[in-house]
Amino acid sequence: MSEQIQKEVQRRRTFAIISHPDAGKTTLTEKLLLFAGAIQIAGSVKARKASRHATSDWMEIEKQRGISVASSVMQMEYRDCVINLLDTPGHQDFSEDTYRVLTAVDAALMVIDAANGVEPQTRRLLQVCRARNTPILTFINKMDREVKAPLDLLDEIERELGMAVVPFTWPVGMGKTFAGVMDLRADQMRVFSAGEDRLRNDDEIIAPLANPALDERFGDDMLDARNDVELVSEATPAFDSEAFLAGKQTPMFFGSAINNFGVREILDALVELAPPPGERSTIQRVIEPTEKKFSGVVFKIQANMDPAHRDRIAFVRVASGHFERGMKLKVVRSGKELKPNTVVSFLSQRRELLDDAFAGDIIGIPNHGVLQLGDTLTEGESLQFTGLPFFAPEMFRSVEVADPLRTKQLRAGLTQLGEEGAIQVFRPMAGSILLLGAVGQLQFEVVAHRLEHEYGVKARITPSRYTLARWITCDEADGGERELKRFIDANQHRLAHDAVDAVALLVDYAHELRAIEQNWPKIKFHALREHA
Ligand code: GDP
Repeated sequence: MSEQIQKEVQRRRTFAIISHPDAGKTTLTEKLLLFAGAIQIAGSVKARKASRHATSDWMEIEKQRGISVASSVMQMEYRDCVINLLDTPGHQDFSEDTYRVLTAVDAALMVIDAANGVEPQTRRLLQVCRARNTPILTFINKMDREVKAPLDLLDEIERELGMAVVPFTWPVGMGKTFAGVMDLRADQMRVFSAGEDRLRNDDEIIAPLANPALDERFGDDMLDARNDVELVSEATPAFDSEAFLAGKQTPMFFGSAINNFGVREILDALVELAPPPGERSTIQRVIEPTEKKFSGVVFKIQANMDPAHRDRIAFVRVASGHFERGMKLKVVRSGKELKPNTVVSFLSQRRELLDDAFAGDIIGIPNHGVLQLGDTLTEGESLQFTGLPFFAPEMFRSVEVADPLRTKQLRAGLTQLGEEGAIQVFRPMAGSILLLGAVGQLQFEVVAHRLEHEYGVKARITPSRYTLARWITCDEADGGERELKRFIDANQHRLAHDAVDAVALLVDYAHELRAIEQNWPKIKFHALREHA
């Protein structure tokens, strides 16, 4: 068994695809599935998006704004590897959810629109990857358009990322005269042809790169590309796997997702360069992916994915061991036992019943509230994975129900949406009005919409005076629980409980927070709550 576990772990690749909206993330995702043979005709990801719109009202928001609100998981096999691809919502208002998704992956694929370069949302996501030293692969998309000069893009990315960029391919021409990409390692050129939705295997390859036929055919574009490559090969370091795995170098690829071009290189890079699942930290000890016993962590909860079923799925990243359908699991936080029989995997985008899973895989466990964000699941050992971030909200609203008879539904809806991480819900210690906290404005709109359509509650969401929240703790050495209680007693009027009953301070102004910090030097005020 342990040999099988080792083999399975070695062939897993789990990565997130990140980009600014419109860079081509959905298109590339679709083409990755197409090349891996997980779908036959591209367009099904979009089609699925569309059918979801048809069945689920709240997706109207997504449709209207042309953004993807919910992130999803897809599994595919390519060569000898099992690839888990996690989509991330591109809109900045949903960055909290995205940050949590990034804790569940071993690598990230950054998609950049070659005409726009590094855009704000990409920058924010990159910061998270950088903070976690996540290895990043870079795909420069839309080379079939008039775009920035490749050398300028390389410069820009290097500057923005603060890491060395190592081109694996280099484009010849762009826009109407886009001729293809030189594969600098395989010493050959893949000639561009506008692709279709189906996969074809008749790409024209010309080798070696020194072949004068290339210059005859592509003229000045070829000459320019050759000059670029010469410059680049002098100025950039050789690819160093260790530096890449430590998040210090990123391999760069050029292509055009919509034309199926440059996609295979990305899949090959994922298989050859991206790391298999590694060790993960818990408060108690470090967990190796090849350990026999199962462990995993809930990094995302999504309710009502299928409005017909009212389901609520906890997404679990497997950290170690072998998961088998029907096995007993312990929810460490509550001590409760869970025996999930209908665990789902996300093979080629259909939800399928899952039989087994290994480190790196994402499994979906339908449940009715037994599982919360950040929960650790084990076969019995008391472990708590660390690192799942909750950010202090930057915007607040009061929420009341228009019809007082629906108060219970409002609370139930908000509890679920809160557990899902769609919004943060605070119960002030004084008074009975609930507060919503968000990182972005759009979250309030989504919550209001979902309360109405999924829970039948018309909520009145009104401005709140608060602008800042801080979670509070006190170290043992500084008085611990006693000092904390003293603080709570003195500040009841500006304290609230969050969804997991952690105590947070709410203030109107930053200077107010500074004054409180000065008056209570032993209390710690946190802008980020890591689970546990
Ligand atoms: P996302 O918001 O990042 O998921 O972006 P989409 O995949 O929805 O793509 C945004 C737009 O760019 C769509 O209209 C795509 O058809 C288009 N697009 C994607 N890839 C390419 C490409 O390689 N070339 C061109 N010209 N357009 C592309």
